Amino acid sequence: MDKIYDYIVVGSGLWGSVFAQQAHENGRSVLVIEKRKHLGGNCYSYDFEDTGINVHKYGTHVFHTSNKFVWNYINRFTEFNSYQHKVLTQYKNKMYSMPINLGTINNFYNINLKPFEVSNFFEGKIEDITNPNNLEEKAISLIGRELYNAFIKGYTKKQWGCSPKELPSDIITRLPIRYSYNDLYFNDLYQGIPINGYAPMFNKLLEGIHIKLEVDFFCDRGYWEKACSCIVYTGPIDRFYNYKFGRLGWRSVDFEYTTYDIDDYQGNSVINYADEDIPYSRIHEPKHLHPERRFPDGRTVIVKEYPCKGSSESPFYPINSNDNKKCYKRYHDLASSEKRVIFGGRLAEYKYYDMDQVIDSALKCAEKCMM
Ligand code: UDP
Repeated sequence: MDKIYDYIVVGSGLWGSVFAQQAHENGRSVLVIEKRKHLGGNCYSYDFEDTGINVHKYGTHVFHTSNKFVWNYINRFTEFNSYQHKVLTQYKNKMYSMPINLGTINNFYNINLKPFEVSNFFEGKIEDITNPNNLEEKAISLIGRELYNAFIKGYTKKQWGCSPKELPSDIITRLPIRYSYNDLYFNDLYQGIPINGYAPMFNKLLEGIHIKLEVDFFCDRGYWEKACSCIVYTGPIDRFYNYKFGRLGWRSVDFEYTTYDIDDYQGNSVINYADEDIPYSRIHEPKHLHPERRFPDGRTVIVKEYPCKGSSESPFYPINSNDNKKCYKRYHDLASSEKRVIFGGRLAEYKYYDMDQVIDSALKCAEKCMM
């Protein structure tokens, strides 16, 4: 078969779509193949039944970045609303704001500290752990054992299915800890939700590009490899190599949808559940992601998120334990020697990327390839 495409992009998630868009813009011929029925990978969102509520099919995705270049780039494909992400967490049937801030601390201890009093207050609580080398040690060195036990320990065990002692410390540094009443979830300069949801954003990114939905690369791998000069693979890297060095660890989530005939179920887009004995980790109420929209009265949709064991068939989060890191390195070394395959994105690079990091990575990779 003749090579009819410069690039065949396997997977239409954010990394693959940005790479495809850049290749197309630079005059390359591109085909995107996607095994799901829709574009956008885990960012995908759609209007739910007749509610007019845009539901994020794979959990709430708030776009946030401090990278102006990335922000300007993605704004070519969608307008964002002015949504600012705020999260609450329930612990022992009481509500607190998350990430941990002065409101959380005062509420939890039933005190009324001022910002400049927090350091002294924590002095007796924070344990002096030099070189914390797991999530638990890191968290205790930042907020002490009591807040850790309440808000981090149970949630993290549910989310990751293992002890926080087995997890790398950098997972917890995704969350800011503030001694002020600032209760925004992210510190970034720019954030928002695409005004019409994520699907139109992906349609625009891939405008003019050949797309095949519901096509599994692995069902006819030889065919696709012959049809292009270069494969851009964004799926799980262990699957690409047929698990020859073993399976990488993934964490996954299941979602349960319920529609209620009420205006508002929980008063916020996301509520976390910190208690270990509550099986779900979060409840999403997507209506609240669009303060600019007017919804018909009397209906709302909620989505309960249940963490569960993942696999390369349902990967959401790479579990960056030492064993997995070693295993990934073997795949990565092999991937580096490929001449006609590019690997990119959360699944192919086994990295806990945020959306803006995905865009940045895909733009840089495309720039290198198109030089
Ligand atoms: N986390 C926690 N309690 C919370 C929220 C987060 O312990 O209420 C921990 C948990 O280990 C989680 C990590 O912080 O995996 C990162 O949270 P983030 O909200 O960034 O996770 P994501 O939205 O990517 O699932």
